[in-house]
Amino acid sequence: MTSSTTTVLGYPRIGPRRELKRATEAFWAGRSDEAALRDTAARIRRDTWGELDGAGLGSVPGNTFSYYDHVLDTALAVDAVPERFAGIEDPIRRMFAMARGVEGAPACEMTKWFDTNYHYLVPELGPDTALAPRSTKVIEDFREAQRQGVTTRPVLVGPVTLLLLSKAADGAPEGFTPLDLLGPLVEVYADLLLELAEAGAGWVQLDEPAFAADRSNAEVDALRTAYDRLAALKRRPRILVASYFGRLGGALPVLARTGVDGIALDLVAGAADLDGIEKVEGLDRKLVLAGVVDGRNVWRTDLDAALAKAQRLTGVAGRVGVSTSCSLLHVPYDLAVETALPSEVTDRLAFARQKVDEVVLIGRALADGRESVAAEFDAAAALRERVRETSGRDDAVRARLGELGSDHYRRGAADVRAKEQRDALGLPEVPTTTIGSFPQTAEIRKDRAAHRSGEIDDAEYEARMRAEITRVIELQESIGLDVLVHGEPERNDMVQYFAENLDGFATTELGWVQSYGSRCVRPPILYADVSRPRPITVEWARYAQSLSSKPVKGMLTGPVTILAWSFVRDDQPIDATARQVGLALRDEVTDLEAAGIRIVQVDEPALRELLPLREADRQEYLDWAVDSFRMSTGGVQDSTQIHTHLCYSEFGEVVGAIDGLDADVTTVEAARSRMEVLAELGPGVPRGLGPGVYDVHSPEVPDADELATQLRAALSHIGSDRLWANPDCGLKTRGEPETVAALTNLVAAARRVRA
Ligand code: GLN
Ligand code: ZN
Repeated sequence: MTSSTTTVLGYPRIGPRRELKRATEAFWAGRSDEAALRDTAARIRRDTWGELDGAGLGSVPGNTFSYYDHVLDTALAVDAVPERFAGIEDPIRRMFAMARGVEGAPACEMTKWFDTNYHYLVPELGPDTALAPRSTKVIEDFREAQRQGVTTRPVLVGPVTLLLLSKAADGAPEGFTPLDLLGPLVEVYADLLLELAEAGAGWVQLDEPAFAADRSNAEVDALRTAYDRLAALKRRPRILVASYFGRLGGALPVLARTGVDGIALDLVAGAADLDGIEKVEGLDRKLVLAGVVDGRNVWRTDLDAALAKAQRLTGVAGRVGVSTSCSLLHVPYDLAVETALPSEVTDRLAFARQKVDEVVLIGRALADGRESVAAEFDAAAALRERVRETSGRDDAVRARLGELGSDHYRRGAADVRAKEQRDALGLPEVPTTTIGSFPQTAEIRKDRAAHRSGEIDDAEYEARMRAEITRVIELQESIGLDVLVHGEPERNDMVQYFAENLDGFATTELGWVQSYGSRCVRPPILYADVSRPRPITVEWARYAQSLSSKPVKGMLTGPVTILAWSFVRDDQPIDATARQVGLALRDEVTDLEAAGIRIVQVDEPALRELLPLREADRQEYLDWAVDSFRMSTGGVQDSTQIHTHLCYSEFGEVVGAIDGLDADVTTVEAARSRMEVLAELGPGVPRGLGPGVYDVHSPEVPDADELATQLRAALSHIGSDRLWANPDCGLKTRGEPETVAALTNLVAAARRVRA
């Protein structure tokens, strides 16, 4: 890398039009062969290298392509293959088997990549895992780029982060932790580095984002040990250690004292690392990459502010380079293909391709002075100014929030509410219900698409949705459930649906971002003040309620989840944005109540996933999360019952927040953990609880005995006046026959337990 080094830490890899999704899914379904899949992959890689090199980056990252997941790729590069897949010879089939499972060998567990919406496959390690270098993919990737005339900087997950993200394999002895394998793993990396050096790689990038979270001394020691060892190798490429998603904090001085050649810092989420950076010993012998272009969000960079941050490193670092804060994996490919966004929105945006240009520009300013790119900088600054003036400000929203102040939560004490609700609803003990969605048939999807494309008009669409709602209500009546739902047939996605119906959001045509494997999402863009121009769900709910004398739950997505699964404006504090979303939803909740809906569920499946990586940052988050939820639910009478649904079962750090939500009933996942969650939530959240008694992710139908056992287990933790009986999540992806069978058994089990 030259003195004006510019680079990005990674790039999208699904193809600008999701070509990889189509190719892998065709391959899985047996509609195409491996050659066709490889061909698509090669084209994506070629175009990426061409774009990045052509844009003028000083260093182009390599090995950023993945058929499924880069953590899986790195596990395979060190031969960390669980026993159950060892018999599969063909490398690509083995990789997909680990990702998706095959008969007799269930898939590796999938979990969230730090606090992003990307999911990785969890490597499984045991004391007997025979680690060994398996360099084929990374070397082939490097050579392929070289043939195209681009010398890349291969990227791998670093050894310490790889271990910290792994789990102990089934059957590993008590006390074993993956970090026990640090010694042998580092030797495998040493071999990989040697092979890369021999292939001609001048630099490699090893990603260690695990150190943006709180780490024990032993873990920081592991970081030191690993990089002391790798840096001491005689034959190796230069090593860039990249951290991202936050500040390195105490790990920075440790890393700086090792002999690695470069460190990439996230100066967007981790700008705090700049405080006192002059005192960090060892940086003066290193390349430090200033990650000043946000890799996780879609806004144009404030070029002058970014340049100023990078300049803070001048005189501190041996050399300074400019980069993105993290891989661009988390943003869409290219703004240029979006033709339907209003200019007031596009003026604010930069997707991956535009961010590359920003990096190059800031790099030029850093190397040759701002005056060398004054025209570009000035134009960008003028645009930012224009954007600020048309900031999508909604004074009515701001005035209403000002009036409400902190007095927005006007509900009585929980026990008072419980009594009023008992009288108003007249439910039996251990009431039965579902989480919201019913199986989404191909028919329903077709109807939504036809409406979208204008093939059927509003009236026809409405008639079809009403027919579906009628069917689902009748189904629930005949099964005998106590609290019904309308089934959510009108919703494509629980966040997108609300974003499309609220002011302040824009949606893209091709703004796809990988969520896991071939699954991509198109996060809405929250760019201005948020409000609700008209009721969204009220007519559907009113119609559903008109069909039954039993209560039908209104069904909304909560403010935290809406923010978690959108790109959120960064020109005001997030708590202010969250309050606006909360207020818009409050309008919906109170309108539902006025329409005769007696129970409203506000889903917050993302409450835990947005939790900051570091303990020190958590309270502030939990405060605004709870506040915005209470904003949305705080306007109803005590007799109206508020439910919330959380999609997971590990509550540890968020029990207090769940209590703070003050929902009358909380439904959670519990089936897989056998009601253990109740030990935590029972005393911690003293209101109604619906621990999911069966796992909706499996097509298996639980029998009534099993379900009754689960309910009785729950009753050993909480009283029958608090317990609800429900599945552990929405039924959207399930088939109809198994759903009917499972819910019939659920109702039978609840009746048995009551008796
Ligand atoms: N109400 C939503 C549904 O049932 C909840 C989905 C979720 O928890 N992710 O589909
Ligand atoms: Zn759920």
